[in-house]
Amino acid sequence: MNKNKAKIEKFKIPKEVSCVTKTLKNANFEAYLVGGCVRDLFIGKKPKDWDITTNATPEEIISLFPKTFYENNFGTVGIVQEKVSDETLKIIEITPYRVESSYSDHRRPDSVEFSKDILDDLKRRDFTINAIAYDVENGEIIDPFTGVVDLSKGIIKTVGEPKERFFEDGLRMLRAVRFHVELGFPLDSETEKSILENNNILKKISKERVRDEFIKIIMSPAPMNGLLLLKKLGLLIYIIPELEETIGIEQNKAHSFDVWTHLLKTLQHSADKEYLLHVRLSALFHDIAKPKARRWDNETKQWTFYGHEVIGSRVTKKILQNLIVSRETIEKVVNLVRWHMFFSDTEKITLSAVRRLISKVGKENVWDLIDMRGCDRIGTGRPKENPYRLRKYKAMVEEVMRDPVSVGMLKINGKKIIDILKISAGPKVGQILNALLEEVLENPLLNTEEYLNKRTLELSKMSDKELKGLGDKGKRKKEKEEEKEINEIRKRHYVK
Ligand code: ATP
Ligand code: MG
Repeated sequence: MNKNKAKIEKFKIPKEVSCVTKTLKNANFEAYLVGGCVRDLFIGKKPKDWDITTNATPEEIISLFPKTFYENNFGTVGIVQEKVSDETLKIIEITPYRVESSYSDHRRPDSVEFSKDILDDLKRRDFTINAIAYDVENGEIIDPFTGVVDLSKGIIKTVGEPKERFFEDGLRMLRAVRFHVELGFPLDSETEKSILENNNILKKISKERVRDEFIKIIMSPAPMNGLLLLKKLGLLIYIIPELEETIGIEQNKAHSFDVWTHLLKTLQHSADKEYLLHVRLSALFHDIAKPKARRWDNETKQWTFYGHEVIGSRVTKKILQNLIVSRETIEKVVNLVRWHMFFSDTEKITLSAVRRLISKVGKENVWDLIDMRGCDRIGTGRPKENPYRLRKYKAMVEEVMRDPVSVGMLKINGKKIIDILKISAGPKVGQILNALLEEVLENPLLNTEEYLNKRTLELSKMSDKELKGLGDKGKRKKEKEEEKEINEIRKRHYVK
């Protein structure tokens, strides 16, 4: 066995984690950090979660940790943290050494057996870089498949014979792509060749498992590379065949790329901006129906794609339902795809056109739509993500969405004034409101019911002329404030 001391900076291991391994060891069990956290520690990445493996049985683990909360059918026991010292430390999972016996359907072990030998546990793991065990107490590593070497070379290679391992569990092919985009490592040539030869096993994998890995690829820093590799390895056709239809679909003069490349570049920019999943997915699918909507226009001698956003929103819905993405995400993505063609020539549109778009796409989605449009531009090959026109559009959206400066801001209204003064509706009510607004704009602290009620009584005693004068002053002040706010919005977006 290859027992080396590891070059891991111990201080990066939270004490909650080393406490768990220590407790197991004090009870005379073996305990190692294993899997993703060891890999990430070696390459200086922050581990997402902490997995510990041990020769103790689930019952023995539970008896050592009073606050265990969960045991699934793989024998994994989760430890609840009393105090979470680090925001990434969510749960610590302890799993007994496992052997996986026979695989009859390429997807799940038929049974889970526990072992007393760490080697058995490392043997069942997918890639060499994920099959390193690390002893926190003495700094020893157990690395029978030379994962540390592969980490330093930067290569993703199956533990053992690739074909055998992919036949056991076809999801591993997709996991290889996921690690490729997360770590930036290429696949070992044998591993890659084997995926190409056996990609059809992916058909047998449950949709939930495929979805989870696919989403991780989309959320990685390099989703464009991920999709290119999925295509190259013949896996994409089993996940989103509709995307393959966009390959080689030429567009009109405004576009430098075919639809496929355009979609990938748009997606990649959304990842560069670290946008959320629904924005990234809408970037990937916004032009998905261009192949279906494409018509040749003999007059302009160009391709047209009328209605592709309408068909596209339906196609997107079908794809995402098939991938069993959550309903909320589907709704958001479909909505963004549906409205991504909004007309944004700010020289030609009015505020009411902006208002109409907002009411169609929804206030809560309009900024996502604009972000996606920025990605769309970059994906088209334009150098500027946020040109004058788009900035102007944003300023118009803000102008439409802001709360106007109006008597509606006051902690009093016309009806209340009528009640207080026991008068009937008339111009006097409006004048009082405007006069109050003037004072509140001058000093926002005066916007209390108490003050405004009292001040209403005082104002009502003034002469009509005096009150009208104050009311008009309030109106002018309001207009000035409005103008000031709109100018500030424009300044923020660097537009006139
Ligand atoms: P991440 O940092 O994204 O969590 P990870 O390597 O921890 O990456 P997990 O899916 O959390 O990935 O799995 C934890 C470990 O379990 C892996 O490192 C690997 O050793 C093993 N593993 C997970 N899934 C499989 C699988 N399908 N086949 C074989 N081993 C697997
Ligand atoms: Mg993990």
